Amino acid sequence: MQTTTRVAIIGGGVVGASVLYHLTKLGWSDVMLLERSELTSGSTWHAAGGFHTLNGDTNMAALQGYTIRLYRELEEITGMSCGLHHVGGVTLADNQDRFDMLLAERAKHRFMGLDTEIVGPEEIRKIAPVTNTDGIIGALYDPLDGHLDPSGTTHAYAKAARMGGATIETHCMVRETNQRSDGTWDVVTDKGTIHAEHVVNAGGLWAREVGAMAGVYFPLHPMEHQYLVTDDVPLIVDMMADGHEHPHVMDPAGESYLRQEGRGLCIGFYEQTCRPWAVGGTPWTFGQDLLADNFDKIEDSIAFAYRRFPDLERAGVKNVIHGPFTFAPDGNPLVGPVPGMRNYWSACGVMAGFSQGGGVGLTLAQWMIEGEPERDVMAMDVARFGNWITPGYTLPKVMENYQKRFSVSYPNEELPAARPFRTTPMYDIFSDLGAVWGHQYGLEVPNYFACGDEPTYETPSFRRSDAFAATGREVKAVREAVGINEVHNFGKYRISGTGARAWLDRIMAGRIPQPGRLSLTPMLSERGRLIGDFTVSCLSENDFRLTASYGAQAFHMRWFQQHAAADVEIENISDRVTGFQIAGPRARDVLAATTLSDVGDMRFLDVRRMTIGMTDCVVQRVSYTGDLGFEIYCDAMAQRALWNTLWDAGALHGMTPFGMRAMMSLRLDRFFGSWMSEFSPDYTAAETGLDRFIQWSKNTSFIGREAAEAEREKGPALRLVVFEVDADDADVQGYEPVWLDGNVVGFCTSGGWSHHAGKSIAMGFLPSDRVAEAPDVEIEILGQMRPARVITEPLLDPEGSRLRG
Ligand SMILES: Cc1cc2nc3c(=O)[nH]c(=O)nc-3n(C[C@H](O)[C@H](O)[C@H](O)COP(=O)(O)OP(=O)(O)OC[C@H]3O[C@@H](n4cnc5c(N)ncnc54)[C@H](O)[C@@H]3O)c2cc1C
Repeated sequence: MQTTTRVAIIGGGVVGASVLYHLTKLGWSDVMLLERSELTSGSTWHAAGGFHTLNGDTNMAALQGYTIRLYRELEEITGMSCGLHHVGGVTLADNQDRFDMLLAERAKHRFMGLDTEIVGPEEIRKIAPVTNTDGIIGALYDPLDGHLDPSGTTHAYAKAARMGGATIETHCMVRETNQRSDGTWDVVTDKGTIHAEHVVNAGGLWAREVGAMAGVYFPLHPMEHQYLVTDDVPLIVDMMADGHEHPHVMDPAGESYLRQEGRGLCIGFYEQTCRPWAVGGTPWTFGQDLLADNFDKIEDSIAFAYRRFPDLERAGVKNVIHGPFTFAPDGNPLVGPVPGMRNYWSACGVMAGFSQGGGVGLTLAQWMIEGEPERDVMAMDVARFGNWITPGYTLPKVMENYQKRFSVSYPNEELPAARPFRTTPMYDIFSDLGAVWGHQYGLEVPNYFACGDEPTYETPSFRRSDAFAATGREVKAVREAVGINEVHNFGKYRISGTGARAWLDRIMAGRIPQPGRLSLTPMLSERGRLIGDFTVSCLSENDFRLTASYGAQAFHMRWFQQHAAADVEIENISDRVTGFQIAGPRARDVLAATTLSDVGDMRFLDVRRMTIGMTDCVVQRVSYTGDLGFEIYCDAMAQRALWNTLWDAGALHGMTPFGMRAMMSLRLDRFFGSWMSEFSPDYTAAETGLDRFIQWSKNTSFIGREAAEAEREKGPALRLVVFEVDADDADVQGYEPVWLDGNVVGFCTSGGWSHHAGKSIAMGFLPSDRVAEAPDVEIEILGQMRPARVITEPLLDPEGSRLRG
């Protein structure tokens, strides 16, 4: 057996095989796949082989589209068959919410170039005649849906990889992965030890065990899953005689997916009475095995399916496939460089290997070979979970995800499983004040504060929710008096040491401030993509603080550590340091009443240490609300004391707590973008307007400089603009298409209702050369064309006198 390799991939399921192929496709041929048995010996061999593009995340949907198109390429390269059946599929909607979701998906597909369409009951009966359309409002038809042969496809990947120079060792069980001091790995197998520069965990059902060999916990869990294959169904036999194949039918109400199999049908369920598998760990003795049939847990699902697809009831069951496969807590794969590790990569947690495997392989290969994936892949980045995650959190979340696999996903929905988990000392106080909680990165965050008989649960909706009145009240308090909320959900970092300034100058594209000041700066990847929007404050020459998105902590720390320098200390202090933001015209009065320090001369973007009440704090004059405001940071242990001081002083000035719903409305008034909506690795600084914070004059080759300069030279392809929308009861959420002269020319990134201005506002991208001609456009919201116009003057304080005065 070969004993050295550039990359050792552990696991020969469809995902490992795809990674192997894509590494060769992008130019690395010295790559090896290690499989303890035969290829496909985990979840892969017994999969139903269905594929589809539908995914709530647009980039995931694009990667699923890539995967599906790849199969023809594989067949051409290898001459092997993937057993493709491009039969199309319909996803049914039996109520308005489900239909709204399909309308929103269809709208997204317009700018993604996907040819889906909305069809009514009559058309559904024509396309998918096994369906009883009683109670069905409509469906989304996707011509790309289909199914394939799981084993044939995995072997086609493997053959294509071998043709590109890759090696595959079957019956080669990996027992240990030991890292050398130079960052390379000794991969110990039954057949000997392989010295590899990189290790990829594609262990599928055993990914937890493979991860543990390197001391890494991967947040995923296997679930049992069952599908049935029927005997011949006369309607299918007749269709086949006419040369037709029945398409897929997804029935979210029945939590089922159905397709033709041979001359009969095949139907699988995501049942509510689901069961996790191998809670204590996946046994190594499991292989090409199935679980015992379990009709009890799918009894209700089958009864429902018999009503929706009456032909099923008349056909006998020929075969039952019951097997396990893994899920991450949010159902998306875990891909990328594992935070805190060198040369250790994740390609696991892939619950839809035949929709996603190609995209996962492509993404990982780009990351390893080219340094970064071509698009934003945060939805499947292994760094979207931090080291706070535990098996005790993962399991209920995975079960929730399985149960909700076919449920409507609402933009304002807060899923309840495994909560509350991480809370600050303010949890009880805010709960007593009526907080309605959401969560970010495992942390409880108030969304709004209910009063009187207002609902303490925000009903999930695509339209304006029942948080509307409370949000309006909180916005008014900020704009007219003073509001307070926590700064616990900012990612916070301390950068210290003699090399801190030089390091920051290289990592950040913007100006690094002088002591006592702060600045805003984009952080760019080598290709000039936005990988962060930071506030940098300088407490002293060797002591800086950074703040950014709380949910991007592992993502940002991974980047910082990849670029670590000897004379700089980088600490993630996100949970050690917390505090409050106070904002509104009375904010300064409140602050002045709580400290002996003079705050009257504190300018916009000043940062100072001061004692507030009993608590030592760092105070920054800046506010995402766009108003006069201060961020006040303290030690987490002193947060309640700080609260008491601010709350007592605030009483005189009408202080009101506000939550994230109000925050997201307030920021619209000043056209502030937000991380992962307007600012993400999909876009550049120039496209988003953040290039105004780049310090071109600095004498440093900051990361991404070359790419940013090249773009500056030729101008960005897209421009972020703001629209005022004539909306009805639904505002823009993100990814709605923007129409001009009957064509889709752009898309929205986020939006909402400005309670301050009483207007529906959207942010989105237009091609740069169309901006000038696009004052009046239409935005498609839930299938309705809404007139909208580009606006350039902020809705609050256009001169910035409140923010800066
Ligand atoms: C009943 C059922 C129906 C399904 N239907 C569909 C469907 O219609 N469409 C779809 O897209 N997905 C479907 N899936 C999910 C799909 O099967 C998985 O997404 C996919 O197989 C995951 O592939 P993988 O390569 O990540 O993992 P696996 O297939 O589990 O492969 C992991 C491999 O790693 C090997 N391995 C593990 N540890 C080691 C070690 N230490 N040394 C060497 N080798 C090791 C294992 O032997 C195994 O071969 C279904 C799953 C089930 C259970």
